Amino acid sequence: MSDRSDIVIGVDLDGVCADFYGRMREIAAEWFERPIGELTTEVSYGLSEWGISDKNHYDSLHRFAVTQRSLFSSMEMIPGARKYLRLLSDEGYRIRIITHRLFIHYFHATAVEQTVNWLDSHGIPFWDLCFMKEKSQVGADVYVEDTPSNIISLREKGLYTICFGNSTNTHIEEPRANSWQEVYELVHAWHS
Ligand SMILES: [Mg+2]
Repeated sequence: MSDRSDIVIGVDLDGVCADFYGRMREIAAEWFERPIGELTTEVSYGLSEWGISDKNHYDSLHRFAVTQRSLFSSMEMIPGARKYLRLLSDEGYRIRIITHRLFIHYFHATAVEQTVNWLDSHGIPFWDLCFMKEKSQVGADVYVEDTPSNIISLREKGLYTICFGNSTNTHIEEPRANSWQEVYELVHAWHS
């Protein structure tokens, strides 16, 4: 096995480490005052299935979720994230968390605080924490990402990007992982 100490794994948070769509479903049910069972779990990016009509509507729900329901500190961890990120970290890979969460003006301190608290309280190992929209500029060697447009743009730049599977990205091609165990196996298959 080649040296791993200089291999950086760029890991997205929402939809990859944190169950963004599961928590947003609870908050959307509250927001719309609808029984949660009416909101399908099979959503696409933008949440039109729940009645979100456009970007302004989405941003309004998202802002409510982040500022009034502590979205960034109240999501469940996606199973396996802690176990397999720790395994990779112990093997020498450098875990670099990359998230685009600073999109609400004058809310940055709270967004960062919620994020760090969540990462620490869930025991997620990481060396670096990047709040970046342009993920390719972070300079990771391999990326784990769930948002279709991000995956496409990273791959267009020639960057090895594992699609972390959920209902928003079923149309995205391999390499795909449907669990953290599969992420772990793909990283090893790529770098062996
Ligand atoms: Mg994401």
